[in-house]
Amino acid sequence: MDETMNVIIDKHINTSETGLPQNITKDEADRIITEVDSNSKYSGDYHIIYNEKQLRQKCTNVDSVEEGQEISRILFKLLAQSKNGIGLSAIQVGIPKNVFVTNVKEPLYFVNAEIIKGEYPIITEEGCLSFPNKFIKTKRNLKITIKADNIKGEVTYGYQGDITEDIKTNPNLKIEGLDILESVSIQHEIDHKNGILMYDRMFHQPDFSSEKIGRNKEVCIVSNLGEEKILKYKKASPLIESGLWRFKN
Ligand SMILES: [Zn+2]
Repeated sequence: MDETMNVIIDKHINTSETGLPQNITKDEADRIITEVDSNSKYSGDYHIIYNEKQLRQKCTNVDSVEEGQEISRILFKLLAQSKNGIGLSAIQVGIPKNVFVTNVKEPLYFVNAEIIKGEYPIITEEGCLSFPNKFIKTKRNLKITIKADNIKGEVTYGYQGDITEDIKTNPNLKIEGLDILESVSIQHEIDHKNGILMYDRMFHQPDFSSEKIGRNKEVCIVSNLGEEKILKYKKASPLIESGLWRFKN
Protein backbone atom coordinates (compact mmCIF):
# COMPACT_ATOMS: atom_id res chain seq x y z
CA MET A 1 0.00 0.00 0.00
CA ASP A 2 1.46 3.37 -0.86
CA GLU A 3 2.15 6.18 1.58
CA THR A 4 -0.61 8.59 0.61
CA MET A 5 -3.39 6.01 0.87
CA ASN A 6 -2.13 5.07 4.30
CA VAL A 7 -2.79 8.63 5.33
CA ILE A 8 -6.33 8.43 4.08
CA ILE A 9 -7.05 5.19 5.83
CA ASP A 10 -5.20 5.48 9.10
CA LYS A 11 -4.70 9.03 10.18
CA HIS A 12 -8.09 10.28 11.24
CA ILE A 13 -11.54 9.40 12.45
CA ASN A 14 -13.66 12.54 12.09
CA THR A 15 -14.46 14.19 8.83
CA SER A 16 -15.44 17.76 8.20
CA GLU A 17 -18.62 18.87 6.45
CA THR A 18 -16.90 18.76 3.12
CA GLY A 19 -16.10 15.11 3.64
CA LEU A 20 -12.40 15.88 3.73
CA PRO A 21 -10.26 14.37 6.47
CA GLN A 22 -10.27 16.77 9.42
CA ASN A 23 -6.90 16.43 11.05
CA ILE A 24 -4.82 17.00 7.97
CA THR A 25 -4.72 20.38 6.25
CA LYS A 26 -7.05 21.09 3.34
CA ASP A 27 -4.06 21.47 0.99
CA GLU A 28 -2.72 18.13 2.06
CA ALA A 29 -6.13 16.51 1.63
CA ASP A 30 -6.61 18.13 -1.78
CA ARG A 31 -3.25 16.81 -2.88
CA ILE A 32 -3.97 13.30 -1.66
CA ILE A 33 -7.40 12.99 -3.13
CA THR A 34 -6.90 14.83 -6.41
CA GLU A 35 -3.45 13.76 -7.43
CA VAL A 36 -3.78 11.27 -10.25
CA ASP A 37 -0.67 10.63 -12.31
CA SER A 38 -1.14 12.38 -15.67
CA ASN A 39 0.15 9.25 -17.40
CA SER A 40 -2.56 7.18 -15.75
CA LYS A 41 -5.38 5.84 -17.88
CA TYR A 42 -7.65 7.43 -15.23
CA SER A 43 -6.30 10.96 -15.66
CA GLY A 44 -9.41 12.29 -17.44
CA ASP A 45 -12.32 14.29 -16.04
CA TYR A 46 -14.95 12.33 -14.19
CA HIS A 47 -18.40 13.16 -12.91
CA ILE A 48 -21.25 11.26 -11.29
CA ILE A 49 -23.56 9.56 -13.77
CA TYR A 50 -27.33 9.21 -13.41
CA ASN A 51 -28.07 6.85 -16.28
CA GLU A 52 -29.66 3.66 -15.00
CA LYS A 53 -28.60 1.61 -18.03
CA GLN A 54 -24.95 2.45 -17.37
CA LEU A 55 -25.36 1.77 -13.64
CA ARG A 56 -26.70 -1.72 -14.44
CA GLN A 57 -23.37 -2.79 -15.99
CA LYS A 58 -21.45 -5.57 -14.26
CA CYS A 59 -17.98 -4.50 -13.15
CA THR A 60 -14.74 -6.43 -13.36
CA ASN A 61 -11.87 -6.57 -10.87
CA VAL A 62 -8.91 -4.24 -11.31
CA ASP A 63 -5.50 -5.75 -12.03
CA SER A 64 -3.75 -4.31 -8.99
CA VAL A 65 -4.26 -2.49 -5.70
CA GLU A 66 -2.43 0.50 -7.25
CA GLU A 67 -5.01 0.70 -10.02
CA GLY A 68 -7.71 0.59 -7.31
CA GLN A 69 -6.00 3.45 -5.48
CA GLU A 70 -5.94 5.59 -8.60
CA ILE A 71 -9.67 5.13 -9.03
CA SER A 72 -10.22 5.71 -5.29
CA ARG A 73 -8.59 9.13 -5.50
CA ILE A 74 -11.10 10.14 -8.20
CA LEU A 75 -13.94 8.80 -6.05
CA PHE A 76 -12.79 10.57 -2.86
CA LYS A 77 -12.56 13.84 -4.75
CA LEU A 78 -16.08 13.57 -6.18
CA LEU A 79 -17.43 12.34 -2.84
CA ALA A 80 -15.97 15.38 -1.09
CA GLN A 81 -17.55 17.65 -3.72
CA SER A 82 -20.92 15.98 -3.27
CA LYS A 83 -21.19 17.45 0.27
CA ASN A 84 -23.74 14.97 1.63
CA GLY A 85 -22.53 11.68 0.13
CA ILE A 86 -21.04 8.92 2.29
CA GLY A 87 -20.02 6.48 -0.42
CA LEU A 88 -19.27 6.24 -4.13
CA SER A 89 -18.52 3.36 -6.50
CA ALA A 90 -16.39 3.39 -9.64
CA ILE A 91 -19.34 2.57 -11.90
CA GLN A 92 -21.07 5.73 -10.65
CA VAL A 93 -18.39 7.76 -12.42
CA GLY A 94 -18.51 5.52 -15.49
CA ILE A 95 -15.60 3.21 -14.60
CA PRO A 96 -16.87 -0.41 -14.64
CA LYS A 97 -14.43 -1.68 -12.00
CA ASN A 98 -14.82 -3.25 -8.56
CA VAL A 99 -13.61 -0.28 -6.52
CA PHE A 100 -15.49 1.95 -4.09
CA VAL A 101 -14.95 4.38 -1.24
CA THR A 102 -16.97 5.24 1.86
CA ASN A 103 -16.62 8.04 4.38
CA VAL A 104 -18.68 7.46 7.52
CA LYS A 105 -16.41 7.01 10.54
CA GLU A 106 -13.33 7.56 8.41
CA PRO A 107 -12.50 7.49 4.70
CA LEU A 108 -12.08 3.90 3.50
CA TYR A 109 -11.46 2.44 0.07
CA PHE A 110 -11.99 -1.11 -1.18
CA VAL A 111 -10.34 -2.84 -4.11
CA ASN A 112 -11.89 -6.01 -5.58
CA ALA A 113 -14.10 -6.45 -2.50
CA GLU A 114 -16.50 -9.32 -1.82
CA ILE A 115 -19.00 -9.85 0.99
CA ILE A 116 -18.27 -13.23 2.55
CA LYS A 117 -20.99 -13.21 5.15
CA GLY A 118 -24.02 -11.07 6.06
CA GLU A 119 -25.67 -11.44 9.46
CA TYR A 120 -28.98 -10.35 10.87
CA PRO A 121 -31.39 -8.57 8.52
CA ILE A 122 -32.37 -5.01 9.39
CA ILE A 123 -34.70 -2.50 7.78
CA THR A 124 -32.91 0.75 7.12
CA GLU A 125 -33.21 3.86 4.97
CA GLU A 126 -30.79 4.93 2.30
CA GLY A 127 -30.10 7.20 -0.62
CA CYS A 128 -27.72 7.14 -3.59
CA LEU A 129 -25.69 9.91 -5.25
CA SER A 130 -26.89 8.62 -8.63
CA PHE A 131 -30.52 9.24 -7.55
CA PRO A 132 -30.36 12.66 -5.84
CA ASN A 133 -32.85 13.37 -3.05
CA LYS A 134 -34.46 9.93 -3.15
CA PHE A 135 -34.55 7.99 0.13
CA ILE A 136 -36.13 4.57 0.45
CA LYS A 137 -36.51 1.85 3.05
CA THR A 138 -34.30 -1.14 2.32
CA LYS A 139 -33.46 -4.50 3.81
CA ARG A 140 -29.78 -4.93 4.67
CA ASN A 141 -27.62 -6.83 7.13
CA LEU A 142 -26.56 -5.46 10.49
CA LYS A 143 -23.15 -7.01 10.27
CA ILE A 144 -21.03 -8.03 7.28
CA THR A 145 -17.71 -9.73 6.78
CA ILE A 146 -15.78 -8.73 3.71
CA LYS A 147 -12.49 -9.29 2.04
CA ALA A 148 -10.69 -7.03 -0.44
CA ASP A 149 -7.29 -6.98 -2.13
CA ASN A 150 -6.18 -3.94 -0.10
CA ILE A 151 -7.24 -5.44 3.26
CA LYS A 152 -5.35 -8.11 5.15
CA GLY A 153 -7.58 -11.07 5.99
CA GLU A 154 -11.30 -10.66 6.61
CA VAL A 155 -12.86 -7.59 8.23
CA THR A 156 -16.21 -7.20 9.97
CA TYR A 157 -18.28 -4.01 9.76
CA GLY A 158 -21.48 -3.10 11.56
CA TYR A 159 -22.91 -4.11 14.93
CA GLN A 160 -20.05 -5.17 17.15
CA GLY A 161 -21.90 -7.25 19.77
CA ASP A 162 -23.75 -10.54 19.47
CA ILE A 163 -27.09 -9.24 18.24
CA THR A 164 -28.90 -12.58 18.61
CA GLU A 165 -28.06 -12.66 22.34
CA ASP A 166 -28.46 -8.92 22.90
CA ILE A 167 -31.96 -8.78 21.47
CA LYS A 168 -33.01 -11.68 23.74
CA THR A 169 -31.92 -9.83 26.88
CA ASN A 170 -33.17 -6.47 25.63
CA PRO A 171 -36.07 -6.69 23.17
CA ASN A 172 -36.19 -2.86 23.09
CA LEU A 173 -32.61 -2.69 21.86
CA LYS A 174 -32.09 0.40 19.73
CA ILE A 175 -29.86 -0.10 16.74
CA GLU A 176 -28.17 3.07 15.70
CA GLY A 177 -24.78 4.64 15.30
CA LEU A 178 -22.05 5.09 12.77
CA ASP A 179 -21.01 1.42 12.79
CA ILE A 180 -24.35 0.48 11.29
CA LEU A 181 -24.35 3.35 8.80
CA GLU A 182 -20.86 2.36 7.69
CA SER A 183 -21.90 -1.26 7.21
CA VAL A 184 -25.03 -0.29 5.23
CA SER A 185 -22.98 2.09 3.10
CA ILE A 186 -20.49 -0.68 2.27
CA GLN A 187 -23.34 -3.04 1.32
CA HIS A 188 -24.85 -0.36 -0.90
CA GLU A 189 -21.55 0.38 -2.65
CA ILE A 190 -20.58 -3.27 -3.13
CA ASP A 191 -23.97 -3.84 -4.82
CA HIS A 192 -23.10 -1.23 -7.46
CA LYS A 193 -20.36 -3.44 -8.89
CA ASN A 194 -22.99 -6.08 -9.71
CA GLY A 195 -25.34 -3.53 -11.26
CA ILE A 196 -27.64 -3.80 -8.22
CA LEU A 197 -29.34 -0.58 -7.08
CA MET A 198 -30.99 0.32 -3.77
CA TYR A 199 -34.40 -0.09 -5.41
CA ASP A 200 -33.63 -3.80 -5.77
CA ARG A 201 -33.30 -4.00 -1.97
CA MET A 202 -36.49 -2.09 -1.26
CA PHE A 203 -38.49 -3.17 1.78
CA HIS A 204 -42.28 -2.99 1.61
CA GLN A 205 -43.79 -2.60 5.05
CA PRO A 206 -47.41 -3.80 5.27
CA ASP A 207 -49.70 -0.80 5.70
CA PHE A 208 -50.32 -0.59 9.44
CA SER A 209 -51.04 2.72 11.11
CA SER A 210 -52.49 3.76 14.43
CA GLU A 211 -55.29 5.74 12.74
CA LYS A 212 -56.49 2.58 11.10
CA ILE A 213 -56.12 0.11 13.94
CA GLY A 214 -56.01 2.19 17.14
CA ARG A 215 -53.19 2.58 19.64
CA ASN A 216 -54.53 -0.04 22.05
CA LYS A 217 -55.33 -2.67 19.48
CA GLU A 218 -53.17 -5.77 19.75
CA VAL A 219 -50.90 -6.55 16.84
CA CYS A 220 -48.55 -9.41 16.12
CA ILE A 221 -44.95 -8.50 15.38
CA VAL A 222 -42.08 -10.72 14.35
CA SER A 223 -38.36 -10.16 14.86
CA ASN A 224 -35.95 -10.60 11.98
CA LEU A 225 -34.98 -13.89 13.63
CA GLY A 226 -38.58 -15.11 13.49
CA GLU A 227 -39.56 -14.60 17.16
CA GLU A 228 -43.19 -13.48 17.53
CA LYS A 229 -44.84 -11.17 20.08
CA ILE A 230 -48.36 -9.88 20.57
CA LEU A 231 -48.38 -6.29 21.83
CA LYS A 232 -50.56 -3.21 21.83
CA TYR A 233 -49.88 -1.07 18.77
CA LYS A 234 -48.40 1.75 20.88
CA LYS A 235 -45.86 -0.68 22.41
CA ALA A 236 -45.12 -2.37 19.10
CA SER A 237 -44.55 0.83 17.20
CA PRO A 238 -41.10 1.74 18.68
CA LEU A 239 -39.88 -1.81 18.03
CA ILE A 240 -40.88 -1.52 14.39
CA GLU A 241 -39.02 1.81 14.25
CA SER A 242 -35.84 0.06 15.44
CA GLY A 243 -35.74 -1.94 12.20
CA LEU A 244 -35.33 -5.22 14.11
CA TRP A 245 -39.04 -6.09 14.18
CA ARG A 246 -41.81 -5.93 11.62
CA PHE A 247 -45.57 -6.43 11.60
CA LYS A 248 -46.61 -9.96 10.82
CA ASN A 249 -48.88 -10.09 7.80
ZN1 LIG B 1 -25.45 4.35 -4.86
